[in-house]
Amino acid sequence: MKYDIKKIRAIPILDIANRLGLEFNGKNKTRCMRPERHRNGDADSSLSYDSKRNVLHCFACGLDLDGVELVKQVQGNNFREACQFICDNFNITIFPQSKLKPQPKSTTISLQDKKRAVNFHKALVTNFDDLKSRGKIPRCWTLKVVKDLQVGFDLSEDCITYLHFNEKCEPVNIRWHKKKSITGHGGTIFYPVQALYSTYSKNRLLILAEGEKDVVTLQSMGFQAITCTNGAYSIPKDISPLSGFKIIIIIYDHDKAGEDGALKFAQRLSEDFQK
Ligand SMILES: [Zn+2]
Repeated sequence: MKYDIKKIRAIPILDIANRLGLEFNGKNKTRCMRPERHRNGDADSSLSYDSKRNVLHCFACGLDLDGVELVKQVQGNNFREACQFICDNFNITIFPQSKLKPQPKSTTISLQDKKRAVNFHKALVTNFDDLKSRGKIPRCWTLKVVKDLQVGFDLSEDCITYLHFNEKCEPVNIRWHKKKSITGHGGTIFYPVQALYSTYSKNRLLILAEGEKDVVTLQSMGFQAITCTNGAYSIPKDISPLSGFKIIIIIYDHDKAGEDGALKFAQRLSEDFQK
């Protein structure tokens, strides 16, 4: 069965909370499900309704719940069961799997784009010291990491380029730093996903950073690092490549997107791996 996530997310979360029997006080607050994470175990009503994002948010422990997550928390459901609960309660049509459009796969880039990527990489390697001295790339970047990751520089756009690979180390996208992707190739994957399958050790610390630039920086400093290719809120559909890593630290930006995104990813990690 396939659940219409857009429609599920559009259901007002207070209506879902109501179906779950949660009680709210006059300030649209209810009790958080994990008071053990609050200072002094404070069990006051701390889960607040955020109408803008249609979520319940706890300022004491950072818990952030959309409708599906709320159902999961309260009823102990998995994702599928939680979707089913909401669809059943709010008359959302469920489609049989067969009627679905196939998911677009991350396909390899064209020969022409491969040639562009090679040229961008050559440009960065050739002008490495000059670009550094002009502040166009971070000072700490090492040539070895730049070569390992095939990082490039588009001189005409004055912009760093990152070559995204799939797990077989085939190129699937070029990302211009904070700008664009190749049309039709911009799906969310891990960068550099190939390292998760080859060079990275599961016994060593893995850092999840907010962007490719941070990954190159962290690798240059000797760390194992990855990022999700579409920013703080993005998570690849399949996070199984992270399975088995003993310690994963999320280091996102100190802003709203970074904090929310980090929390979202941490929740996903605990759902997928801590059972
Ligand atoms: Zn809380």
